[in-house]
Amino acid sequence: MPELPEVETTLRGIMPHIQKRKISKVVIRQPRLRWPIPDELVGLVEGQQLLNISRRGKYLLFEFAQGYALIHLGMSGSLRIVSANTPANAHDHFDWVFGDIALRYHDPRRFGCLLWLEGEPQEHKLLAALGPEPLTEEFTADYLYKRSRKRTQAVKQFIMDSHLVVGVGNIYANESLFMSRIKPIRKAGTLTRQNCEDLVRNIKFVLARSIEQGGTTLRDFVGGDGKPGYFKQQLLVYGRGGEACTECGKFLKEVRMNDRTTVYCVDCQK
Ligand SMILES: [Zn+2]
Repeated sequence: MPELPEVETTLRGIMPHIQKRKISKVVIRQPRLRWPIPDELVGLVEGQQLLNISRRGKYLLFEFAQGYALIHLGMSGSLRIVSANTPANAHDHFDWVFGDIALRYHDPRRFGCLLWLEGEPQEHKLLAALGPEPLTEEFTADYLYKRSRKRTQAVKQFIMDSHLVVGVGNIYANESLFMSRIKPIRKAGTLTRQNCEDLVRNIKFVLARSIEQGGTTLRDFVGGDGKPGYFKQQLLVYGRGGEACTECGKFLKEVRMNDRTTVYCVDCQK
């Protein structure tokens, strides 16, 4: 599933090719995504210049003079730049053509979306309740400490809640909790100030490193059938249940929490 780092990498990969360019044509092959692509969208963006692209959480916002198109990649979506005459494959649901190139959306499971937003995008119902961006100064140990008081929810679920902070997907939650030596099943309200400092620092670290690694695959956003840059990462615990802990050598424990794979070291994480 595309996580915040992949969405950020997507933004950086496509931006230089299409920013400030005019959309000459919109091709919609399959409008039934998670929500239907609105009928009026084609008329609103065709002939318009794409002014800017930004990201909020895992949403991409494409700014035009009259409003914003919002794209979410869902479970399996990807965007890439192709030559405008590249034949479409299965699951290539829409193209925005910019003269000789096109931005092409591919999504086998169709949980993604393309919507049109008018007014201030941050006030839209999908974005208004989102917590701070993890890589900004708004996300601090103090903030995490205050928000976690009296919370009985497991700390892993707590940090994965997008109302608290956006972008801490399952992989990043597992990794940052291991690096912070915090047991995922512990109640959020028991986090100490030091725990919050460690956790915030490590969440920022794992996300920033992942974005950096994604940057090396940017070329994959351009071209025919190339799978865009969803990258393999060096992971300490995620996907390593039953293997040796990198710190103490004991077997890592794997459990399900809220239907998500959770891996931790019983000895190192308290
Ligand atoms: Zn260990």
